[in-house]
Amino acid sequence: MLGPASVPALLPVYAQLPLTPVSGRGSLLFDAEGQAWLDAYGGHAVAATGHCHPTVVRAICEQAATLLFYSTALPHPVREALAHELVARCPAPLSSAFFCNSGAEANENALHLARKQTGRSLIVALHGSFHGRTAATQAVTSGEKYAATARRAGLPLGRMVPFDDVAALDAAIDDSIAAVLIEPVQGMAGARACSPEFLAAARRLCDQRGALLIFDEVQCGVGRSGHFTAAESYGVTPDFITMAKGLASGLPIGAMVTTSAIAATVHTGDLGSTFGGGPVPCAAARATLQVIDDERLLENVRSVSAQLREGALALGPQAVRAVQGRGLLLGLKLTRPAADVQKALFARRILTGTSADPSVLRLLPPLSFTAEQASQLLSALAEVLP
Ligand code: PLP
Repeated sequence: MLGPASVPALLPVYAQLPLTPVSGRGSLLFDAEGQAWLDAYGGHAVAATGHCHPTVVRAICEQAATLLFYSTALPHPVREALAHELVARCPAPLSSAFFCNSGAEANENALHLARKQTGRSLIVALHGSFHGRTAATQAVTSGEKYAATARRAGLPLGRMVPFDDVAALDAAIDDSIAAVLIEPVQGMAGARACSPEFLAAARRLCDQRGALLIFDEVQCGVGRSGHFTAAESYGVTPDFITMAKGLASGLPIGAMVTTSAIAATVHTGDLGSTFGGGPVPCAAARATLQVIDDERLLENVRSVSAQLREGALALGPQAVRAVQGRGLLLGLKLTRPAADVQKALFARRILTGTSADPSVLRLLPPLSFTAEQASQLLSALAEVLP
């Protein structure tokens, strides 16, 4: 039965741009008129290998035609292979993976294991952080809106400390703290990169106080920093890394990777998911890793990032005050409201992102964004910025 005409069938929870894409290829989307749009937003950093990469699409189709799904009640070679391939790309002693369906779920599972391992309950997180929309991840996300949801659910809130502040972190970690949860490069805050000193201090303080360190790499991981893990780009190894978004180039997957020491304490039934580690998303994730290697996308991230950074700064301080972030998670700190610039770029058929900071325009294109596409974006920025 249809509801009353005034009630939307789809809950109107998303702010959306007025574009309906019908297809995609690489960093381009195409609308119903066949017009190309340059995607410097990557569908929220998800289109790691670009839209509809043929290797990823083929892997999905082949796996779907062979065995669409069976749950984790049975082993599956694709899930096993992905786990091996994923942990091989993470710094030691990170050695074991658990698969779920989203970034928030990956974080929930890391929080769950950290609490179980330490016998403590509280979590330290940073101002500006975003860790997901489940109640437990909202409890450790920055912002009153999220804290209110967690409070309504009766959950203890995270102990929030100012961004990149070693002294505040030192003061916050005591023997009630199970884990410190950090995005090495904060996405929603506008591509704010923690300093290497801060992350090194977080590692040291966690070790001293018996807390565990979790890196939420849901947005900044899977090659986006220019290394496969942001942890590697900083030379700091946490006890857990969570990933999602780009891992399967568009199919839902989340991964939590942990150390051999913690893995040794995990037993049957400690974690679980019906769909997590399903054969089709795992096949898409294996293909994504293969494309990242075969097309040398980490090198591409580093060179296109440098081009965007230099090109944006060359527009002058009257237009771009600073460029923050790492790799292809960049925030252009503008002198004009980022929403206005996003709109002006949209009128030129270029998609970009905004952030919690109204002055920061966020760039999160596919890892395969080309030098020519970066030039096109920079030329458009030169036109729309003062
Ligand atoms: N963590 C970070 C850093 C994110 O950016 C996001 C989503 O934007 C999440 C967690 C939540 O991921 P998901 O929406 O897949 O649950």
